[in-house]
Amino acid sequence: MKYDVIVMGSINMDMFVYVDDFPNYGENMLANNFETLAGGKGANQAVTIAKQGVKHTFLGAVGDDDFGIQMIKLLNEMNINTDSVIQKENTTTGTAVGIVDETGENTFMVLPGANAALTETDIQQALKDLDSKVFLLQMETSRASILEALKIAKNKGMYIILDPAPETGIFEEALAYADLVTPNRQEAEKLTGITINSVEDATKAAKEIAKLGVKNAIVKLGAEGSVVFESDKGAVNFVKANKVKAVNTTGAGDVFAGVLASLLSQEDIDLVEATEIASAGSALKVSRHGGHEAIPTKEEIINYRN
Ligand code: ADP
Repeated sequence: MKYDVIVMGSINMDMFVYVDDFPNYGENMLANNFETLAGGKGANQAVTIAKQGVKHTFLGAVGDDDFGIQMIKLLNEMNINTDSVIQKENTTTGTAVGIVDETGENTFMVLPGANAALTETDIQQALKDLDSKVFLLQMETSRASILEALKIAKNKGMYIILDPAPETGIFEEALAYADLVTPNRQEAEKLTGITINSVEDATKAAKEIAKLGVKNAIVKLGAEGSVVFESDKGAVNFVKANKVKAVNTTGAGDVFAGVLASLLSQEDIDLVEATEIASAGSALKVSRHGGHEAIPTKEEIINYRN
């Protein structure tokens, strides 16, 4: 089966309890509200890709519990192709449990569950008959699954976008397979040891990352924008972020990666132009309340840019 994008990554059930103030250690208290949301970087990126109308499949894992069934249902409601989502036996679905106080500050714990249980064999079987132009992945599934997927995608000649989030020890090993990496400021700092306080610092970091063995690096700088370094052209471009009133910055990078992957699979598009469109998509997400429902469609991004 041939797709435009295969996106691989984490699937989590996010549960949030809303309180006035964080409890003290050992304290019991009444909460104001409770919310469950579909999350995980992989799922966020898959929703973004589905909303760009691109032919895709999502490779990930859920457990054989009720959350797993709910997650598949939620992903299907978002028009995501879940044919490649694996159900792992005797495993819990990835779960994030968080507390949010009145100021919006949050503390949460993540149980990786099925995401961490993905094996090399799972990936080999899932990708056996699949092909695509672009392969997008991040670092929230098991080390074995990431490295195996990278090897197979590279062998099949896919264009590999690696979003090194969260930054983990395997980045340098993984980098050798990627065509494009998209770290945020903190990830780029950890990867290079360079403190990033300016576009110049980000440029230095992007060049350092490219030296580690990848052609293209985009260093994302939140509300400032992003630096695009294309080593084959020796070109550095700064793409300014769109000015919006930020109400929820969660998932900005996931929307960025999803739009970028969709565009690069569709058109012979320049990386800088694709970054401009991805930035507009992220800005729209940041300006809205909510989770997956707040991720913009292709049409919304086009209208926003006109
Ligand atoms: P991550 O979510 O991976 O930490 P960033 O926070 O750097 O990544 O955001 C990714 C991209 O989203 C930025 O490069 C920018 O284009 C856009 N973005 C993020 N925050 C804002 C904001 N407050 N206003 C406008 N655009 C934003």
